[in-house]
Amino acid sequence: MGIVRALGAFSGGLDSMIAALLLKSQGIEVEVATFTSPFFSSESGCRYAKQLDLPWREIDYTAEMMTLLQNPPSGFGKNLNPCIDCHAGMFRILGEIASAEGYDFIFSGEVAGQRPMSQNKNSLNRVARLSGYQEKLLRPLSAKLLRITDPELRGQVDREKLLSLSGRSRKPQMKLAEEYGIEYINPGGGCLLTDPNYCGRLSILMEIRGLLTARNAGLIRHGRIFRLSKDTICLVGRSEMDNAGLESLVKDEVIFVLEDRPGPTGVLIGDPEMLPVLIDLVERYAGVRS
Ligand code: SF4
Repeated sequence: MGIVRALGAFSGGLDSMIAALLLKSQGIEVEVATFTSPFFSSESGCRYAKQLDLPWREIDYTAEMMTLLQNPPSGFGKNLNPCIDCHAGMFRILGEIASAEGYDFIFSGEVAGQRPMSQNKNSLNRVARLSGYQEKLLRPLSAKLLRITDPELRGQVDREKLLSLSGRSRKPQMKLAEEYGIEYINPGGGCLLTDPNYCGRLSILMEIRGLLTARNAGLIRHGRIFRLSKDTICLVGRSEMDNAGLESLVKDEVIFVLEDRPGPTGVLIGDPEMLPVLIDLVERYAGVRS
């Protein structure tokens, strides 16, 4: 058999690292990809792929996420996280790249039963089916609990050396990390769509026709949010960091900053006629008037 090549979804979290190393230890040529969007970044993926010396690429998943948020076929999780369709879409993209570029299979660090909605055994199977690459999608950490995949059938991967992890405990992965001698970050917290506070803001955008855009999804990470009318919101910075965040992202939106004294940056999204209301808010928070 020639060289076996695999392409993995790689968040940079412990599970994705262990999955990649498990395959690498079988002599498989492993490459990884990290997805990015206004809701999650590829920073950890980039950093930890370097640490493991894995060839890495970034995939911009913004357009897919914005479409999914409008009507996820499998619904949302606890917050505005369309995890099942999100994962399926990621694997569909990886599967397409694998077919186009000659990888033998794709993989991820998912563990059966680790998360209530998206990673119970049924959901893993559903995600695989929805991706269109069910036969080529390997989950090395739970493989022995899941149906056998193409690369295992073909002998490209030794199923016996894969794992049967399930549940929320990370102890086995931590033990393996020690054996491999790798540093890792604590899991979770990477996706804004699981953050109730951010999702509260996002739901305001979702209620207003035309406002659910990638840039607005980035803008609402900063400052206080106010709904000014049925079609207009504004953001008012709470700190220098908020102000800088807003100023770095605005393009066509109306922005208001006090010239003669420090104060919050205000951004209007929607009807420009509402500018006086924004000015009033900025002046109030700057202490110009009470
Ligand atoms: S947590 Fe966020 S990035 Fe992860 S699958 Fe769910 S929606 Fe996608």
